[in-house]
Amino acid sequence: MYDKNNIFAKIIRGEIPCKKVFEDETCLFFYDIKPKAKIHVLAIPKTQSVDYCDFVSNNDASVVLEFFKKIDLVLEKLKIKNSGYRLVSNSGLNGMQEVPHFHIHILGGERLKF
Ligand code: AMP
Repeated sequence: MYDKNNIFAKIIRGEIPCKKVFEDETCLFFYDIKPKAKIHVLAIPKTQSVDYCDFVSNNDASVVLEFFKKIDLVLEKLKIKNSGYRLVSNSGLNGMQEVPHFHIHILGGERLKF
């Protein structure tokens, strides 16, 4: 069950500020408030999706594809497409997901540990 008052829903609605990297009518990319790498950006679709499975199962393939293609575009914008990067999406209790709105962590800008 999607919680419309989660922090990323509030960021999408403009109720909480964020340091924006890219936005259009379908998605928003912004810097993580507690970066775990030199570049740490969060990618979120504007659909009401709790996690990865919710997003891919309950949206048209075109919506899903569009979102992943936007990640490609932002990797270029951040200038980390060629140097390498890591995409991570946490889900649920064992995944240690903090914010229950599907998001992908984009990490890069340096040689990542672990
Ligand atoms: P997760 O554990 O995968 O749910 O990650 C949630 C991420 O959201 C964490 O890396 C937090 O640092 C980040 N975060 C929480 N609140 C904000 C915020 N207001 N602006 C930017 N990032 C945030």
